[in-house]
Amino acid sequence: MRKLAEVLSTEEFEMIFDHLNAAVAVVEKDGSFFAWNSAFEPFKKIMRNAFPKNLTEMHWQEIFLLDEDTPTLCDCFLLPASNARFILIAEPVTSDDSASAYQIQKLHKQVKLFKVESEFSKKLAHNKHIELESVITQAKEVSETDALTFILNRRAIINELQSEVLRAERYNTMLSISIIDVDHFKSINDSFGHPIGDVVLQQVAHRLRDGIRHPDVAGRYGGEEFLIILPNSDIHAASEQAARLGKIMREKPALVKEHVIQVTLSIGIAQLKIGKDTWETLLNRADNAMYEAKNKGRDCFVVAE
Ligand code: GH3
Ligand code: MG
Ligand code: MG
Repeated sequence: MRKLAEVLSTEEFEMIFDHLNAAVAVVEKDGSFFAWNSAFEPFKKIMRNAFPKNLTEMHWQEIFLLDEDTPTLCDCFLLPASNARFILIAEPVTSDDSASAYQIQKLHKQVKLFKVESEFSKKLAHNKHIELESVITQAKEVSETDALTFILNRRAIINELQSEVLRAERYNTMLSISIIDVDHFKSINDSFGHPIGDVVLQQVAHRLRDGIRHPDVAGRYGGEEFLIILPNSDIHAASEQAARLGKIMREKPALVKEHVIQVTLSIGIAQLKIGKDTWETLLNRADNAMYEAKNKGRDCFVVAE
């Protein structure tokens, strides 16, 4: 068999090189390209990055991004040539193994991307969850708050009473309540007008709220009626509180615009009788005691039997 070099001219070699799928270049010692075939053209711009720096690695595999969409896996060879130059051959690989290696690499990239995306989604979901919780908390607060006085509304204070009655029964602890009604409030409205009556109610509510101690809670039970719950307290503690609240109102009239408005309270107190009372009968007893205070002349408190 004759050797190709013996029978082919330089022009014919050139023709063959330009028809090859493999990219072939003659490389100088410093890595610059001295000559190359047409298949090497697209490699020329990007090869510098991939080219082994020490020029000692003779065979390696590399993925080249010849155009943006089609990464090309190549077998690369570096062969010593004359004049201290090298011949560089980059041959696109199409075997199944290499294709699957490339697929695996691509898959790795997708998994990485997916992980980043899912971390992002997790954070997003977490933030949404926090937002939702805060909306729910705000909605709950709004649904439990009296719009005029900003203390607990009727529904919320009754809920509170139901829970406290259950707790007192379960742990056999004391529980007292006070129903507080503003005396002659109708005449306050009649004298100063409904809007000023509203401000008086706000001031009464705030004085009650500020005049009680933790864990007592106050709520607006009706128009000009308030309910205070005193966990772990007997009628003596509740009476002390009622006397204090009555005094606060009596001694410091409400001040609305230029009006000085005298406000007094009638208070009915009841202590839970465990095994006898429900939250409703407890409320009734306190309510009756409050009406007794009205009958006694108002501006006082009465303790239910
Ligand atoms: P008593 O000493 O017997 O309790 O007399 P009273 O006038 O306070 O009692 P009554 O039940 O006759 O009147 C309560 C008044 O409270 C009637 C009602 O118009 C007024 N009221 C109820 N809710 C509000 C409110 O939100 N704002 C104002 N300004 N007035 C209210
Ligand atoms: Mg009333
Ligand atoms: Mg009243």
